[in-house]
Amino acid sequence: DGGPETSSIRHLDERTVQRIAAGEVVERPASVVKELVENALDAGADRISVSVTDGGTSRIRVRDDGVGIPPAQLPDAVAEHATSKIADIEDLDSGVGTLGFRGEALYTIGAVSRLTVRSRPRPDAHDPTAAREAEQTGVDLPPDAGAELTVEGGEVGDVRPAGCPVGTTVEVADLFFNTPARRKFLKTDATEFDHVNRVVTQYALANPDVAVSLEHDGRETFATQGNGDLESAVLAVYGRDVARSMITVDYAIEDDETGPERAEIPADTPVERVYGLVSHPETTRANREYLSTFVNDRYVTASTLRNAVVDAYGGQLAPDRYPFAVLFVELPAGTVDVNVHPRKLEVKYNKPEAVKRTVRTVIENALREEGILRSSAPRG
Ligand code: ADP
Ligand code: MG
Repeated sequence: DGGPETSSIRHLDERTVQRIAAGEVVERPASVVKELVENALDAGADRISVSVTDGGTSRIRVRDDGVGIPPAQLPDAVAEHATSKIADIEDLDSGVGTLGFRGEALYTIGAVSRLTVRSRPRPDAHDPTAAREAEQTGVDLPPDAGAELTVEGGEVGDVRPAGCPVGTTVEVADLFFNTPARRKFLKTDATEFDHVNRVVTQYALANPDVAVSLEHDGRETFATQGNGDLESAVLAVYGRDVARSMITVDYAIEDDETGPERAEIPADTPVERVYGLVSHPETTRANREYLSTFVNDRYVTASTLRNAVVDAYGGQLAPDRYPFAVLFVELPAGTVDVNVHPRKLEVKYNKPEAVKRTVRTVIENALREEGILRSSAPRG
């Protein structure tokens, strides 16, 4: 098959456009998990259970106890560019407080899988006009009833009643069943699960006040308690040895205008607070994956913060070894842009050098207090 013989320009049909677009948001099971966990967090969940089968290639299920979706709004939840999180461009300019806002995740996931959204709204969590909307959309169910909706390869079914607890369960079966070329790009189940595990781990660490659990092929990988304690989340995710080696970092810049730390921190630093946990230099791994850095609570993989952490250890790390870190950096919204990268892992700082120096100094001081670095450690 040599493809089309003529090169005339044609308009692609809606389904083709939908599937091409889907490929940009949904690359693999882990990208689905990311979107669903973000939705659960945006819904104010206290408990999020992620369960996948065959690395997520056969089935992904994310269950939460968040605000839920009224039955009449289920079709909106899976519609293109439909979101409850922003209303217009002004909302976007004034800063979005939610992880999502584009209103495209469920729509695109539904285009390339068999998607079921089952939900029951938290009483009083939703606008009472939802009841009026119910009449308009023809969904004949009370606004606080449990209901479900299935989308198969972009084909949206009817809203049906479903018995379920308050909250939302999203199931994604047979990812890429209708896009065989994409399905072929998937790696082994073990590798796909590895990616899923990394995503869920980052959200569990970033949200120690939410009980996050992960299950693969019926076996629990980890479960955090959701008690708000970061050390307990690290214990659940990385185990006892790593948790025991962790050193607390907590430094609010405005608290200390004159201390020895302050002398090393650039006077014009935009950083307001640096806190979290870093490991003893003897507890390391061979790659940087365990350096979890968050800017204003968003996970970022950019090298600026990771390098700042590694640099703070000076010569204390063995060659090609990296510490564990779960580090939160807070800056005023105007000094950082977390949306420059479409997958939102990259950030752009107004003063990257000052940010880096601040983080490095704060960690150096935490290590010094533990006697890991000498007080007069030479700077490099
Ligand atoms: P976005 O998150 O950008 O708004 P999505 O396609 O991810 O877009 O979700 C569309 C809408 O569906 C959300 O704005 C929200 O109203 C609703 N929704 C999705 N997942 C959940 C959930 N787990 N709990 C409550 N509402 C949800
Ligand atoms: Mg979303």
